[in-house]
Amino acid sequence: MNMRSVGRNRINRCVDTASANLARFTWMAPTSGLAAASFIASCCGCWAPTAAQGQQPVNPPPGAVTPAAPASASPAATPAEAAVLPVCTIDLALTGQMKDILANALIRSLKLPKRDVTLFLDGASDRYTNGQELLTATAVHFKIAQDILASKVEKFKHCNCSHGPLGPVHHAHLYFDPHVHPDCNIDLANAGNMKDIVSNTLILGLNIPQPDVGAFLHGAQDRYDDGQDLLAATAVHFKLSENLLAAEVKKFKHCNCKHGGVIDGVPEVLPGMQDDGLPVSKFAKDVTLHVVLHEIGHAVIREFDIPVLANEETTADAFATYYLTTYLPDRAVDVLVARTTSLMIEASESPSVDWRGEHDDDARRAYQIAALAVAADPVKYKPVADVVTMSARDIEKAQDYGGEVRRSWRRVLAPLWMPDGATSPMARTSFGDGSAFLIRLCEDGPGIKSELVRDIESALSRFDWHSQVTVDFVDSNGKAGWNRSRRTVTVYTGYIRRFIRQGSIEISPTSGLK
Ligand SMILES: [Zn+2]
Ligand SMILES: [Zn+2]
Ligand SMILES: [Zn+2]
Repeated sequence: MNMRSVGRNRINRCVDTASANLARFTWMAPTSGLAAASFIASCCGCWAPTAAQGQQPVNPPPGAVTPAAPASASPAATPAEAAVLPVCTIDLALTGQMKDILANALIRSLKLPKRDVTLFLDGASDRYTNGQELLTATAVHFKIAQDILASKVEKFKHCNCSHGPLGPVHHAHLYFDPHVHPDCNIDLANAGNMKDIVSNTLILGLNIPQPDVGAFLHGAQDRYDDGQDLLAATAVHFKLSENLLAAEVKKFKHCNCKHGGVIDGVPEVLPGMQDDGLPVSKFAKDVTLHVVLHEIGHAVIREFDIPVLANEETTADAFATYYLTTYLPDRAVDVLVARTTSLMIEASESPSVDWRGEHDDDARRAYQIAALAVAADPVKYKPVADVVTMSARDIEKAQDYGGEVRRSWRRVLAPLWMPDGATSPMARTSFGDGSAFLIRLCEDGPGIKSELVRDIESALSRFDWHSQVTVDFVDSNGKAGWNRSRRTVTVYTGYIRRFIRQGSIEISPTSGLK
């Protein structure tokens, strides 16, 4: 497949799909909903608290790992209780408390022989003046990276506590996901799953060299108890902010999934592709027309061997805009306003400027489309300029450089048109007629093509293609793309449904979308 997607965060390459390890150690209560107690509520196998809170606890006999109170002794928080978080008095600066937690971490998580742990920790409270010193010495003694040991200690910190939840166990960025992922098996609490996603994130998202990533992640699913540990250790190892890494991981979460397009970690279309039966909005049809013309731009470039001297995505946007303003002048204002608005919504939903990847950042794409439009007619396309808040000076400059672009298109396309009055027999449009949504999109009545389809057909049939070229609408998740070997532009309804949602977003003309 040689699909070129149109929107942001195109994720179609994945690096490591093999090492998902589904049967990981899980000791966190499973979450169910927002107020779920996904916290350390019980810790069987822990040393029970041996001293009142705040006091230096009496050291338990090392190795004598006694079970903690059963879970019922520390009842799961009800939503009302969870609102008032309990206070924990564990102080890991105290050598004795650090020693207790270390013993749990070393034996239960790092699987060190009880005997070795016992011998080393015996008398540790007297040998080390504070918890940090003991932690450092323990890491050295057992030849464990200190950051790994520290992350284990952090995890076991409350294993002797009887208080309820202190906060979400998962990273804030990983914790809340309101969307349903019907076909998704990814569980980022699972170290193997997290390893796969982190691998993609580091290599594809953060441009860290593959050998470095591979070296660090090799066997990581066995070194870390869960996804959160692995994430935290990865952030430390590559000197990344954990917040940043977690946010990137979220973007790549579904990169190995087969359940269709995902934007910023969220599937584009909700389960079942529910059909609300409403007409497809004019806004959505208008955006779709520019999207399809963009893909036809790829087709023209590839089928007629137009030199690709710079970014092809920008070129395809320019083709669509040039085509609209020149050959569909009655539709151009509405379509360009819709397309630039849609791109600005995409940009406003992104946490930061996306300057990587083949596509320009969406806001930049919107601006360039508007610039080329005002180069055709600054008065007529003023509404498009307003979407991207172009100043009078911006418009003046755009007329200058946009004029060159328009002339170039005129010359490049001149030999490719069918003779006046003729249409290419090689142009086809099709849609899956088992979909009510597609029937509403593509037909105005039984057998009567909608304006959108007619506009697409008229564009397609103007070119003197040497073989059949098809625009096909498919009722499924995904965006839109040109497939060279099939000579087909495929447009997925998931993308169009997204435009329908965007069309319902309130847009302030003065404050813009941000
Ligand atoms: Zn605690
Ligand atoms: Zn998924
Ligand atoms: Zn493209």
